[in-house]
Amino acid sequence: MAKYVYDFTEGNRNLKDLLGGKGANLAEMTNLGLPVPHGFTITTDACRHYLAEGSVPEGLEREVDEHLRALESRMGRKLGQADDPLLVSVRSGAKFSMPGMMETVLNIGLNDESVHGLAKQSGGNERFAWDSYRRLIQMFGKTVLGIDGDLFERALDDLKGRRQDTDLDAGELQQLVETYKGIVREQTGKDFPADPREQMRLAVMAVFDSWNAPRAILYRRQERIPADLGTAVNIMAMVFGNYGDDSGTGVAFTRDPGSGQQGIYGDYLQNAQGEDVVAGIRNTIPLQDLEHLDKPSYDQLVGIMETLENHYRDLCDIEFTIERGKLWMLQTRVGKRTAAAAFCIATQLVDQGLITMDEAVTRVTGDQLAQLMFPRFDGGAEKKKIAKGMNASPGAAVGKAVFSSGRAVELAEQGEDVILVRRETNPDDLAGMIAARGILTSRGGKTSHAAVVARGMGKTCVCGAEELEVLTAERRFVAPGGVEVREGDVISIDGTTGEVFLGEVPVVDSAVVEYFEGAQEPADDLVKAVDRLMRHADAARRLGVRANADTPEDAARARRFGAEGIGLCRTEHMFLGERRRLVEDLVLAATDEERQAALDALEPLQKTDFIGIFRAMDGAPVTIRLIDPPLHEFLPDIVELSVKVATEEATDKDRRLLAAVKRLHEQNPMLGLRGVRLGLVIPGLFAMQVRAIAQAAAEVPGARPEIMIPLVAAVQELESVREEAVKILADAGAEALIGTMIETPRAALTAGQIAEAAEFFSFGTNDLTQMAWGFSRDDVESAFFSRYLDLGIFGVSPFETVDREGVGRLMEIAVREGRAARPDLHLGICGEHGGDPDSVHFCHEVGLDYVSCSPFRIPVARLEAGRAALAETDSDTR
Ligand code: ADP
Ligand code: MG
Ligand code: MG
Repeated sequence: MAKYVYDFTEGNRNLKDLLGGKGANLAEMTNLGLPVPHGFTITTDACRHYLAEGSVPEGLEREVDEHLRALESRMGRKLGQADDPLLVSVRSGAKFSMPGMMETVLNIGLNDESVHGLAKQSGGNERFAWDSYRRLIQMFGKTVLGIDGDLFERALDDLKGRRQDTDLDAGELQQLVETYKGIVREQTGKDFPADPREQMRLAVMAVFDSWNAPRAILYRRQERIPADLGTAVNIMAMVFGNYGDDSGTGVAFTRDPGSGQQGIYGDYLQNAQGEDVVAGIRNTIPLQDLEHLDKPSYDQLVGIMETLENHYRDLCDIEFTIERGKLWMLQTRVGKRTAAAAFCIATQLVDQGLITMDEAVTRVTGDQLAQLMFPRFDGGAEKKKIAKGMNASPGAAVGKAVFSSGRAVELAEQGEDVILVRRETNPDDLAGMIAARGILTSRGGKTSHAAVVARGMGKTCVCGAEELEVLTAERRFVAPGGVEVREGDVISIDGTTGEVFLGEVPVVDSAVVEYFEGAQEPADDLVKAVDRLMRHADAARRLGVRANADTPEDAARARRFGAEGIGLCRTEHMFLGERRRLVEDLVLAATDEERQAALDALEPLQKTDFIGIFRAMDGAPVTIRLIDPPLHEFLPDIVELSVKVATEEATDKDRRLLAAVKRLHEQNPMLGLRGVRLGLVIPGLFAMQVRAIAQAAAEVPGARPEIMIPLVAAVQELESVREEAVKILADAGAEALIGTMIETPRAALTAGQIAEAAEFFSFGTNDLTQMAWGFSRDDVESAFFSRYLDLGIFGVSPFETVDREGVGRLMEIAVREGRAARPDLHLGICGEHGGDPDSVHFCHEVGLDYVSCSPFRIPVARLEAGRAALAETDSDTR
């Protein structure tokens, strides 16, 4: 018999798959003996069943009833009992935290009778009882009944006028309840459901449904969270922060999520219920000030924070409520943090003896490292600072101010950089937040929605810039001194300092990049942490890391970034610019002599190119790919040429070129005369390149060339190129490995044969992905990939992350059969996937020898290769 409901005493932190993060951690805190209200969790299994079948699984209601009865007997009151009601919250909570993306309903169990019971229970606090009741109808109306939340907000605003919500008295709140009930009747044609158990049942289904709310779907896609996990539902006895000034609710971090510094970070709001803090209804006070309001609770909270840090051995974030001087823990999880904080915290925890260096490396990600390599504002540049808010999520962002999510999306689609400016954000702003370069709000602290979501996405954010008056409807904001910024005006925001500047501020390289460049000894804490973790990752990794670099400059940078060689040196740019003329001569050659003359002219130029690269790599291996693109790519554009030929000035050569361009035109150039096929069809072309390589190698002591043949599909193609190359190398007295790209499905499937003629393989996963899926990358990505992502055909573009099931399988076959035929076969990857964290892990798993990626991604690949060797990704830190 399936079990769908777990009491908090039955779960633990390892059951996130089943109980969701919130439920698993509530159970963990319960077991630690911390003050957590009693409750139970409905599993993600039940949710998945509900989403698939459209109804809850059989037996669920009965199981919920049993757990509810147990809860009632513990609490000594029944759900919604008229004279002394038990109230509960019904809370979403998936495996991966999705802050504010799904639904939660508080105060379930109130109705026209039990509201009086609640008042009595609270010692005659009528105001509190009616406030709780109006909150229930409002939340339930919006999330369960699907009523536009603004209707309730407006009714509340009308009633309070210029006062705060806490200024409303019991009579007014009772009147508000009547108004709200009217809204429900009007909008749904039915009365607000009075039966407490029915309220609960409907709320549970609404939470299940919220898994598929548009913003939740969007968030999952952005964060690469699988679409089929479902959410758990937590049902928990209510505790009340809205009793009066001796009560309140807050959020806290055990360390600064921005810098990693230890201390007391958080926000507290007196006389309020949970959702008020993040919603920015009233201004919160810093958590430190709680010490003066309620010292015993404050001390207890600080003690619990320490307990949680030591227990989870990581930064935790916390939701808590104080009910008339009694502290309750309502949530904890390993908290989101900025990239800089992640590196600092990981090494701090090592120094505190809480984790090992191995673990520390698994606590930081390549994506976080990439963020630290983003540019920052130029310290020396002239700037006009107009405000300062909180440094919620680091980075330097410049763009046009926009005041709505929709407008942000619109302008971003037109290729504009925008900064989304809001008073505060809410989950409906998600699309705009994704589209914007940065986010600026005038309200809310480091725990506000904007801050939490931006940090999660690695997006620059300044929040709570209270000096700014944001007039959303008028699409402008006003800064102190009357400075006005209208939609479309450019502003710059610094998420590291919280500063807001008028106009465009120039940006400079990050300190981390300077460190990688070798220009800087580890000086500040962050760079020191990066240095320690990178060294450890390098020591741990089994994968080598090489660079894709075509020029001596790129090669030199790659080397400084830690590349151990070049995994892909393309030769096509060596045919561009001035040298196009020589390619034209080659194409137009009418006789063998003319063709050879064109090749002879190219050879010394190529040789010089290779000498430059070999010198830059200073004895490290350099994999040179012989020319890959079709030759017509080097010729003038057919339309321009036709126009020219139609006019007088056209020369005889133009006419011959036009004829050649027409002759060489291909319907599908990606599958046409390119790669090894060129080498076989155009006599002398590959030989010229090989000779240039051989002579360059002979001139640079220690040079280690590896000659790589592109687009091979059959061993015979490779054999004939190889034979010629071996001879040329011998003649020049040079040595080089000869190998091939594996980028056609046939090459992967016949890798055993191909390995007979290849000393190395390098997976060209761009072409391999194109050919395995039958996708023409340039055509499909813009045309329909977003639809494919919507449909869940893939969770992430296969051009971004290696598609393990298909392309990955071809790679596995090639690795296995290639190595069987030639045990010392050297294996690498040089497609763009070589710098993608997930793909690096895959390359580690299938046993490649190295990955090769663009110079800027090299540190990322080094770190991820280390992480792959040390452990599986820790799901807590994603
Ligand atoms: P989210 O995932 O959006 O944070 P939560 O389920 O955590 O949603 O709930 C929203 C707010 O309600 C939080 O501030 C939480 O602390 C508060 N809350 C949830 N359950 C209770 C409860 N039983 N008693 C008091 N406050 C609660
Ligand atoms: Mg929460
Ligand atoms: Mg290719």
